[in-house]
Amino acid sequence: MNDETGLTCSFCGEVQAPDMPLIAGTSGHICQSCVRLASQVVSSWGRRQSVNNPIKKPPVPLVIKQALDNYIIGQDDAKEAMSVAVYNHYKRLVAESKTSGMEFSDNEIEVDKSNILLIGPTGTGKTLLVSTLAKIVNVPFVIADATTMTQAGYVGEDVESVLYRLVDAADGNIALAEWGIVYIDEIDKIARRDESAHGARDISGEGVQQALLKLVEGTQVKLTDKSKRKENASEVMIDTRNILFIVGGAFAGIEKIITNRVSPKTTEIGFHADPVVKFEQEQTELIEEITPDDLRYFGLIPEFIGRFPVITKLMELDEEALVRILKEPKNALVRQYQKLFQYDEVELEFTDSALHAISRQALDRGTGARGLRGVIESILQRSMFEIPSEDTKISKCCIDIHEDSEGFVIDKICDENDEDTDKEKVSMSS
Ligand code: ADP
Repeated sequence: MNDETGLTCSFCGEVQAPDMPLIAGTSGHICQSCVRLASQVVSSWGRRQSVNNPIKKPPVPLVIKQALDNYIIGQDDAKEAMSVAVYNHYKRLVAESKTSGMEFSDNEIEVDKSNILLIGPTGTGKTLLVSTLAKIVNVPFVIADATTMTQAGYVGEDVESVLYRLVDAADGNIALAEWGIVYIDEIDKIARRDESAHGARDISGEGVQQALLKLVEGTQVKLTDKSKRKENASEVMIDTRNILFIVGGAFAGIEKIITNRVSPKTTEIGFHADPVVKFEQEQTELIEEITPDDLRYFGLIPEFIGRFPVITKLMELDEEALVRILKEPKNALVRQYQKLFQYDEVELEFTDSALHAISRQALDRGTGARGLRGVIESILQRSMFEIPSEDTKISKCCIDIHEDSEGFVIDKICDENDEDTDKEKVSMSS
C-alpha cells in the first residue's frame, strides 16, 4: 500500500495528503470518497434484500381479528385495535418495499409506525395476543421482560439485547428482523420511582425508559456477532425504525390515579365520600378512562408515552370467560389434556359444572387464566400417575363435581364392564 511518497487508499489508489486523510485498517487504508461510496453500496444491499423478501398484500383487520378469535376469548376491543395497528404496520412495510400491488400515490408521505401499549391484569391474554398476532402475520417476533433490563453500563441486560434475539428469530436475516415485532412485558415495572422517597438514583426505571425510547423511536444500532470469537467478531447495523414495539403491563394501582382525576376531590372525604364498595365495583370500568396523563403520574416519562399512540386495554376475565377459555380456543386446556389422555387410549370428559368449579378456583388464585392449568393439574395428577399402569383397561375418565360440592370426582370407566367404575374424589382445595 505504500509507495515512495507515502500511504495510498487501498481501494482507489489516491495518495495521502493534508486534504486527503486516510483511515487505517489492519492491512490497508481507505479515503473519504471510498468510504462514502461503500456506505451507499451497503445501504442499497439492505433495500435489495427487503425486495427479495416480498411482503404480500396484508390480511385485512377483519381477517386478522377472526384469526385471533380462534385463540383468544373475549378482549374484543384489544383484538380490534391490534388488528388495525398490525394492518397499518403491514401497509407501511408494503409501501417501503414497493413489491405488492398496493399503490401509494404520494411517496413523499412517510407513515410513522403506531407502537402499542397494552394495559391489563396478569393472565388476561396480553402475551398470548401478541404471540398469536406474530404467528398470523408471520414476522420475526420476540418477547422481552422489562424487569431484566438495565441502563447500559449497569449489571443486567442492555436494552439492545432484545435486538440480538430478534435477529436470531429472523435466522440472522437483518432485513427481515428490521420488520419484526418486539413485545416488552412488565413495562409498568420500569416506571420512574420517586427519587426523594428512596434517596437513590433510579437506574432501573427512568434510565431504562430513556434507553428504550431510542430503540422505539428508530435508531441505527450496531450489533456485534457474539457467536464469533472476539478477534473475528463482525458487526452489523440494524435499523429499528420499522420494528413494531408492543409493550404491556398490569399497571396495578393506576385506578387510584384515575379516580383522583375523574371524581371531584370533595367527594373523597367527609360525609359525601363514596362508599368503598362502589369504588371497587368501578375499578374495571375506570381502566376504560385511562389517559396518557395517568400513565405519566404512574411513572412513565412523557416522551416514552408519546411513542405509544395506541393504548389498548384488556379486561379482567370472569367465570364465564374462563370456562370458554377452558374449552373453546384451538389449543384449549381441555383439548390439551384430552390429547394427553388419548396417548393412553383414554377418553377424557369434563362436565359443565366441573368446568365452572375449575374456573371459580382459578379466579380465587387471582392470576387470571394462568391459574387454570394449575387447578386441572392438581385434579388430574393422581389419575395421570395411575392410569398408565392400571391392570384393568380404563377407556374413559369423567370429571364432575362431587355431590357435596366440596370436591371433584373422577369417574374411571373400564372397557369390559361399564358397571365396574372406580371413583376418585379430589378435594377442591388441593
Ligand atoms: P398476560 O401476558 O396478560 O399476563 P398471558 O397471555 O401470558 O397473560 O396468559 C397466560 C395464559 O392464559 C395463556 O397462555 C392462555 O393459555 C391463557 N389466556 C389468558 N387470557 C386468555 C384469553 N383471553 N383467551 C384464551 N386464553 C387466555
